[in-house]
Amino acid sequence: MTGQANKPFPWADQWPEIVDPRVRAAFAAVPRRAFLDPNLARFADQDAPLPIGEGQTISQPFVVALMTQALQVQPGDKVLEIGAGSGFQTAILCELAATADDARGATVYAIERHPALAERAAAALASLGYAPHLRVGDGALGWPEAAPFAAIIVAAVAPHVPRPLWDQLAEGGRMVLPVGVQEDDQELWLVRKFEGKMQVERLGGVRFVPLISPVLDDPKQWAEE
Ligand code: SAH
Repeated sequence: MTGQANKPFPWADQWPEIVDPRVRAAFAAVPRRAFLDPNLARFADQDAPLPIGEGQTISQPFVVALMTQALQVQPGDKVLEIGAGSGFQTAILCELAATADDARGATVYAIERHPALAERAAAALASLGYAPHLRVGDGALGWPEAAPFAAIIVAAVAPHVPRPLWDQLAEGGRMVLPVGVQEDDQELWLVRKFEGKMQVERLGGVRFVPLISPVLDDPKQWAEE
């Protein structure tokens, strides 16, 4: 463990599962309250999802930590995030992908469907000195101009791995996403690409809002397991 990893964050004692010192250090570095409406800031330290407007929620911190740990982001990795929402997860990714020379977030690409959420996320990120690439759009289409990505994280549930995201995952890359058809029957998947083939590790039950995209209505747009 590094010294940094011992820095406290609100949930430090509640998370024995989160053993990666870099992930723990990232949670110590990013204040969650900065991503909440001021009226909800007093709940920021609860390990629970909270409303962020537009019918969406900021994810439970533990779920963000679990997904981030599975993603194994290294400094300099190109990372794609779908469903940036509040921007909290984006900030964690900026911490982990940062290198000594680049602005924090230079290799992080985040997509959010709701313009109002993207705008608030961009402001919160900038206020903390993070500079990821953030755009409004359909994340299921990925960000082809910036592909391939070493890591892809999706914060909304889809019936399967969207093919565009699979195509934009680098060889040896990792993708973490909730998969499921029903709201109460979702599983977190860690997907790896090895010699072009999909390897899936199931990480347990979760509950996410749906990934909304016409791409997913067509099963031909689901990548093959
Ligand atoms: N990690 C975020 C999670 C927000 S909830 C946080 O903790 O704040 C999931 C987000 O996915 C919502 O903001 C929703 O608007 C967004 N979303 C849903 N479908 C999307 C799509 N096709 N492309 C991009 N974002 C999408």
